[in-house]
Amino acid sequence: MVRRNMLAVAVALGAVAFGAASCCKKAPQGDARGVSEGKGAMSIQKSDFGTTKDGQKVELYTLTNKNGVVAKVMTYGAILTELHVPDKQGKKANVVLGFDTLKRYEEGHPYFGATIGRVTNRIGKGKFTLDGKTYELAVNNGPNALHGGLVGFDKKVWKAEEVKGAAGAAVRFTYRSPDGEEGYPGTLEAAVTYTLTDKDELKLDYKATTDKATPVNLTNHSYFNLKGAGNGDILGHVLTVNADKYTPADDTLLPTGDLAPVKGTPFDFTTPTAIGARVAQVPGEPRGYDLNYVVNGKAGELRPCAKVTEPTSGRVMEVSTTEPGVQFYTGNFLKGEETGIGGVYKQHYGFCLEAQHYPDSANQPKFPSTILKPGQTYTQTTVYRFGVE
Ligand code: BGC
Repeated sequence: MVRRNMLAVAVALGAVAFGAASCCKKAPQGDARGVSEGKGAMSIQKSDFGTTKDGQKVELYTLTNKNGVVAKVMTYGAILTELHVPDKQGKKANVVLGFDTLKRYEEGHPYFGATIGRVTNRIGKGKFTLDGKTYELAVNNGPNALHGGLVGFDKKVWKAEEVKGAAGAAVRFTYRSPDGEEGYPGTLEAAVTYTLTDKDELKLDYKATTDKATPVNLTNHSYFNLKGAGNGDILGHVLTVNADKYTPADDTLLPTGDLAPVKGTPFDFTTPTAIGARVAQVPGEPRGYDLNYVVNGKAGELRPCAKVTEPTSGRVMEVSTTEPGVQFYTGNFLKGEETGIGGVYKQHYGFCLEAQHYPDSANQPKFPSTILKPGQTYTQTTVYRFGVE
């Protein structure tokens, strides 16, 4: 069991139960990043990740599975800071963009690894009307509101606790968003559980309840690079997206409200295609993909969303989700100003697959609704599964 007043307590979870009987074996120690090359028991290690500028303590949880896959998640922003998975030779690399220090996260960054809320993506002109009342949000992205506002969930310190009896090493983060925070109505109780399974899956389960009707659209904003963070661009990664349609948008990336077929466009990833193959044909500046796909199949059911393979390392990531959509973003705005774990992050050094409801759903009556009402429970599950080919 992790005790609140003890830092860096390693907890061996055992294959069957999270019980006290298997307690207190040290997490495997390995290279400089604390990643073991070997195999061992599943574990959760809690450590101090510093104190925010306003004096809140931040904890980092290191989840390790029996194959030595490691995911690090912290209470600031419920951010995934590192994710170490093997290549076809069994050599591990950190495949998400992130930083070593809390200070660096607090200095600002384009949502690396963060949990985004209360509403991810754009809300047109920062306004929506609900039950006859118009709500105004901070306009922080051109003329629109983006990613929950000026101080979204990505910048809040969440509470965390281990989840006993989960199907892997699991930590649950919770955050209470007060009524009126960033302009949104109702007190929202939000939760996200990260579970690292022995099948090399990182499973994200979100839940939320409210005491007043409010839009809710939660996602994770990890930037992946299956060659390893900082190790070049992602243009050679081969992507398949399980989507025949996308939501066309204006030049501020606000959906028009239509759904359009991907067929015949550079957005068609229904068959495996290198991300960079048609990037020059994608309109807009800076160059790259930044669009929402309509994931095939029934929203609410966990179904395939995307698959990415990286030919040189052999690493593969499969994404499945219950969400109706997924924002595919290729780090177009990275300008080499961020130096993170693994080196400098330049344009296209990471890609995001942000499973979510469509952008601007609060203003688009034809899109699946993002409105959560009192008495209802919002849920969303997204699974990132890693392997080699
Ligand atoms: C958006 C991009 C934005 C990025 C970082 C993505 O979800 O679609 O336009 O630049 O997040 O903020």
